[in-house]
Amino acid sequence: MDISRRGFLKISGGAAAGLAMGGLTDLGLNLNPVIAHAQELRIRKAKAVPSVCPYCAVGCGQIIHVQDGKIVNIEGNPDSPVNQGNLCPKGAATYQLAVNPLRITKVLYRAPRSDKWEEKSLDWAMDQIAQRVKKTRDETFVRTWKNPATGEEKVVNHTLGIASLGGATIDNEENYLIKKLMCSLGVVYIENQARI
Ligand code: SF4
Repeated sequence: MDISRRGFLKISGGAAAGLAMGGLTDLGLNLNPVIAHAQELRIRKAKAVPSVCPYCAVGCGQIIHVQDGKIVNIEGNPDSPVNQGNLCPKGAATYQLAVNPLRITKVLYRAPRSDKWEEKSLDWAMDQIAQRVKKTRDETFVRTWKNPATGEEKVVNHTLGIASLGGATIDNEENYLIKKLMCSLGVVYIENQARI
């Protein structure tokens, strides 16, 4: 049963005695107009900035709503010929990535066998990563590999001592750069979460 927002307000006024939103949904009422109205209120005074979902090569169009210099909403761009307003679950969660009080914004380090996280500077973390990558690569780099079955020797120039694992929130361009960097180091274990 589809109803307009006005119709919904009338019904909910009459049925206010004890009907919760979940109950209305159970009765088969379509709450989409009400949800859409709440969304409208949230973005009414916001500036709409067209953008592209950062996550994968599909390149779905997004609209980012900005108010007072802050992102207040991100949704699919209906004008995009790629996605026509739709976003996959990952793209639809972009707002939660950008605006999230649980997001960790400082470097946290847990030393081997420690049960505590320590706050560190970004420079410290970058130096540590560079030093450890260099040390591990120097110790594990293999120039050639001999096939034990045939005795044939091949140039491989790789290291099996380092692996790269990209997370779900690493975007397309970051994954591209990570892949380039890792290949240049001779890393062969390279993986990332998104590969649509
Ligand atoms: S992650 Fe989803 S929404 Fe984003 S570009 Fe890829 S398919 Fe589109």
